[in-house]
Parts: sequence; structure tokens; C-alpha cells
Amino acid sequence: KLSKRLKQTASFLPKGSKFADIGSDHAYLPCYVCLEDKQAKAIAGEINEGPFQSATQTVRGHGLEEVIDVRLGDGLEVLTAGEVTQVVIAGMGGSLIRSILQKGKDKIESVDRIIAQPNVDARDVREWFVHNNFMISEENIIEENGHIYEIVVGDRHSGAVYPELSEKQLLFGPILLVNKTKAFYTKWAEEYEKLKRVIDQMRLAKLLDKEKLNRFERELQWMEEVLQ
Ligand code: SAM
Repeated sequence: KLSKRLKQTASFLPKGSKFADIGSDHAYLPCYVCLEDKQAKAIAGEINEGPFQSATQTVRGHGLEEVIDVRLGDGLEVLTAGEVTQVVIAGMGGSLIRSILQKGKDKIESVDRIIAQPNVDARDVREWFVHNNFMISEENIIEENGHIYEIVVGDRHSGAVYPELSEKQLLFGPILLVNKTKAFYTKWAEEYEKLKRVIDQMRLAKLLDKEKLNRFERELQWMEEVLQ
């Protein structure tokens, strides 16, 4: 059975999607999508041999070799330009997701939607989106087995009318921020306590990086505001 996290991530793919799942591990997500949607086609990318083998086995096990192509390689380099219209990157840190997108920019000119599920540092993904003409069109935050997961969806836009996002929107998510859910409160209450401890330690150590301390204090203030 597919996890709630991956199900929610997959829910942002359109019907009949031609998509890539980068860092696919067991290829659970593309198998689920292609079993449900007979028009869908996928490329499962993996950088590591072990997960690549697992992905190949899952795909074979479901008899999906005709619709899911499993490829070994780093990030988006497994794609040929124009092959897919959506990309999923799930279950990694936001900074890794950002670097995969940045490195493979030229491979995704045909891509109109990127669905990212960063485990941490979603802000990095949002920043990459806004700097690369992807508007944040959907977001979700869910809790599963005591973990909180964020999903951020970017849709390509022409650039002309899309408004800038504030630092606060980039941190919390422009959509998550207006529609605060229980998972959102849980996450930011935890982050608040974590950051507070970090700030206390920085002060105690008297090793003051003023700029960093100011930034952390500003973020702590924002967290207080959103938790009200
Ligand atoms: N996407 C799946 C999920 O959300 O359940 C698997 C997440 S797993 C924690 C991360 C996977 O990404 C690992 O299998 C790892 O080998 C792969 N990975 C890490 N860096 C990668 C890269 N640059 N290109 C492709 N795959 C990568």
C-alpha cells in the first residue's frame, strides 16, 4: 500500500501524465500512478545501483515495463529534452531538490509542472521555483506516522504578471500560510522550539555571528506570528 505522503504527491499529476520520478527508490510512486491511470507513462530515475535494481524489480513485478522506463543516473541527466511534461522529486531535502533542478535546467524546458516533496528546507525549493519562472500553484502539508511532510507544486508561467513572494511566504509557503492546518501548526510549533534552542545556544557561546543571530531572531518572530 502506498504511503499517504506519496499518494498526496501523486495526486498533483494530471491524468495521462508523461512524467519523471527522480530519486524513485522502489518506484512505488510511478507504479501506483501507472496502475491507476492507463494513459500515464513514466521514467523512474535513480542515482544508486541498489535502488535502481529495486525500481526495476517493482516495475517488472507489476508488468509495467512498457510504461515505466527505469534509468540509472544523476538527477535530470537521465532525461532527454522534451520527454516529459511533469517531474516529481520526493523524499529528499529541499537543498538537494534545488540542486537537482538547477543542474538539469536545460532538460526540463518541456516541463510545465514540478511536484516537489522536500523532507526539510522547503524554502530552498520555493526559492528555486520563483527564480526560475515556476509559480507555486498548490501546496500541501500532511502528517504521517509522526512526521510532517510538505508538498510544493510549481507551474511554469510566462513571467509577466507573477508577484514576488516575501521572505515569510518563502519560509512557510504562500498557500500553506493562508490555509493553516493542524499539521502546519504542529510543524511550526516544533520548529519554533528548535530555533529557540539554537538562538539560546548561540547567545551562551558568545560566539556571535550577529547577522545570523538577527536572521534567526527575525524568523523566530515570524513563527510566533503564524502560530497565533
Ligand atoms: N522518492 C522516493 C520517496 O519519496 O519515497 C524515495 C526517496 S529516497 C529517501 C531518496 C532517493 O533518491 C534514494 O533512493 C537516492 O538514491 C535517490 N537520489 C539521491 N540523489 C539523487 C540524484 N542526484 N539523482 C537521482 N536519485 C537520487
